[in-house]
Amino acid sequence: GADRTKNVLILMSDTGGGHRASAEAIRDAFRLEFGDEYQVVDPFLDLVLIVFLCLDHFLSVFVKDVWKEYAGWPLNDMERSYKFMVKHVQLWNLAFHSTSPRWIHSCYLAAMAAFYAKEVEAGLMEYKPDIIISVHPLMQHIPLWVLKWQGLQKKVIFVTVITDLNTCHRTWFNPGVNRCYCPSEEVAKRALLDGLEESQTRVFGLPIRPSFCRSVLSKVPSQGRDFLDDLRVELEIDPALPAVLLMGGGEGMGPVKKTAKALGESLFDEELGKPIGQLIVICGRNKDLVSTLESLEWKIPVKIRGFETQMEKWMGACDCIITKAGPGTIAEALIKGLPIILNDYLPGQEKGNVPYVVDSGAGVFTRSPKETAKLVAEWFSTKTDELKRMSENALKLAQPDAVFDIVKDIHELSCQRGPVSSSSFVFTSSFSSLI
Ligand code: UDP
Repeated sequence: GADRTKNVLILMSDTGGGHRASAEAIRDAFRLEFGDEYQVVDPFLDLVLIVFLCLDHFLSVFVKDVWKEYAGWPLNDMERSYKFMVKHVQLWNLAFHSTSPRWIHSCYLAAMAAFYAKEVEAGLMEYKPDIIISVHPLMQHIPLWVLKWQGLQKKVIFVTVITDLNTCHRTWFNPGVNRCYCPSEEVAKRALLDGLEESQTRVFGLPIRPSFCRSVLSKVPSQGRDFLDDLRVELEIDPALPAVLLMGGGEGMGPVKKTAKALGESLFDEELGKPIGQLIVICGRNKDLVSTLESLEWKIPVKIRGFETQMEKWMGACDCIITKAGPGTIAEALIKGLPIILNDYLPGQEKGNVPYVVDSGAGVFTRSPKETAKLVAEWFSTKTDELKRMSENALKLAQPDAVFDIVKDIHELSCQRGPVSSSSFVFTSSFSSLI
């Protein structure tokens, strides 16, 4: 009947922390806004393997066989993993830019179709979604093809939520979507250039987990200090010393170790013989980094953590953040009013995040751990005004309501569409038999 719960399927991957954090944000916002009206099924985890197998396939077959002949790139013994790509950013850069022209990524996606269309089809059969939300740049084309082939295009709502702040890959854009949610005007401009209609795009901001946004509401200025005190007690960090948070995305990437060491020196006042600040390092899933840092001696209070699930607390308890230019971390830090030192970026999709932050006065970019350490020491001693100004600029750029605006807009689309009958999902022919 018309009142049945609607199913929402989120297509995501588990590389880095960003896509997953966005998927969780959307799921939680649906629950908070609409309760039982929607059932958001567990993100489609197994797709990631297939997608990246395909990416590897593309790189090793397509790039090696076609491009290498001409350019001689040494891709022969390339290790097959995303982590490898992240560590060897030039390769990632190559993959990113070489798949940019439309004809290349069309071929590439056609090849990928053979691998994962079957999975998508099985997912559709199992979850019978009324709404599909893609938060991944490689998950528009094939799911949309499958929907089309199954005659479900008019019945199932398909939206894309872009999770890159500025420069993003063209595979994000597909004119076949009902909506494309862009985090910034810059991204929306690119969407229009790539054939989307203005009526298909909306600019609300990057979806951030509601736990971040809701705690903003409770941070009444006059109670700000108490709030901070409570957090610091809970997290067992020094209540009085200014705190810098150092991280590197979900995988703990970038020059974290060198920066931590430099901060260990710069935040210790030799003359007074005491620290002027404290350091919190969140290493994400990088376990080696945790043990390396734990084996070092420190002159200042240091807290070293692995993957944390309550980032809003750690960010809320600190005074500034040092991170690679991951969109999720940046958007979260802005909501928490943290001045940002960007110390690295993944070429391609993260590059544009640097001017996004720096040009609006919410942070600075430097690759030098020494310079970073010096800057933080100044912020915590002689240049507290600068820190405050940047914090205000960060808050101005923050878009804490984005995730709620997105789910409300999807809800409106869904109300216009009316319910899908589950019999729509009796597939006429198997997609996989078509290829
Ligand atoms: N994150 C987290 N716990 C950690 C480390 C990271 O929840 O211990 C989250 C972080 O809050 C952010 C995401 O992981 O939401 C990282 O996303 P980002 O886009 O910054 O970088 P990525 O890891 O995707 O490259």
